[in-house]
Amino acid sequence: MASTHRSPFERLRTQYNDVDLVCPSCGYDDEDGEWQAATAGRTVQYRHVCPSCGAIRRRTLSLDS
Ligand SMILES: [Zn+2]
Repeated sequence: MASTHRSPFERLRTQYNDVDLVCPSCGYDDEDGEWQAATAGRTVQYRHVCPSCGAIRRRTLSLDS
């Protein structure tokens, strides 16, 4: 089953990796980092850990749209 379509999941992942990698706690710009995404039902849970201060940010997006 071949498909060239990018899934909504991939789009969201790319979108998040392009922005908001600056830690709000210490201001560290995690240029090489990324939001790690995990699907849970119809939601995607994102998690980013600041390598400088260890602050953990979480976001949850719904795929319903
Ligand atoms: Zn930080």
